Order: sequence, then structure tokens, then C-alpha cells
Amino acid sequence: MSSADCIFCKIARNEIPSKKVYEDEDLFAFHDIRPQAAVHFLSVPKQHVASLLDVDASHAALLGKIFTRIGQLARDQGCGEGFRTIVNTGKVGGQEVYHLHVHVIGGSTPLPAMIKW
Ligand code: AMP
Ligand code: ZN
Repeated sequence: MSSADCIFCKIARNEIPSKKVYEDEDLFAFHDIRPQAAVHFLSVPKQHVASLLDVDASHAALLGKIFTRIGQLARDQGCGEGFRTIVNTGKVGGQEVYHLHVHVIGGSTPLPAMIKW
């Protein structure tokens, strides 16, 4: 899929509305439309990268920017006691939107077990 058709590229370009959490020249963060907990937002690079399977060394700085910013954003959203980050990848990982994104999930109470079989 090209960035022209990608829903998260459109959100990052403000062509589709979202509940914005944060934006800078490289990153965009917004609340998930179907939250799985009291706090659930997505942190995405503005650059279109389909998934972690498409990441190489050229993306190292970008990934660093995403992860160095997440703690502050989570704290600002009320997750100062902790949160969970999830990056679903590919068919096996249950990825629905093929634009790399980090789920940040939390709230005031501990989350359930990470994986329930
Ligand atoms: P994933 O399975 O990791 O690809 O998750 C994609 C996530 O994007 C899901 O949690 C959806 O609820 C969320 N999502 C899809 N469309 C939108 C949208 N327009 N605004 C906010 N979140 C969205
Ligand atoms: Zn995209």
C-alpha cells in the first residue's frame, strides 16, 4: 500500500481527523478509535513504514525517537505508574493497519496478563 492510501499517513497529514496526543516533525500520536483500556493511544512515525518486518538500519533513529518520547506521552496521559507497549506485526502478529505503530495501553489499575491462550 502506498502512503497515499494509508489511513495512518492520512491521519498524520491531518486529512482524517484524530484525537491528537502529540506531534513533531517526525512523529504523530493519537488516541485509538477502539480503546482497549482507559488510556490507549498509538505512536506512529510520519514516514510510511509498513511494519517491523520492513525496518532496517536506516530507521534506527526514527525508532529511537518513537521510544524515547513514549514515556513522557504516557505520563502526560495519566500512565505514570506504568503502561504496556505493543507492536503487532504482520499476519501472525494480528496487524490490521500496515503503517508501523506502537500501541500504548494503560490506566490506573494493572493490566491483565499479557497473553491469554
Ligand atoms: P493493529 O492491529 O496493531 O494494526 O491495530 C490497529 C489499531 O488502529 C486498532 O487498535 C484500531 O482500533 C486503530 N485504528 C484504526 N483506525 C483508526 C483511526 N481512524 N483512528 C484511530 N485509531 C484507529
Ligand atoms: Zn502510512
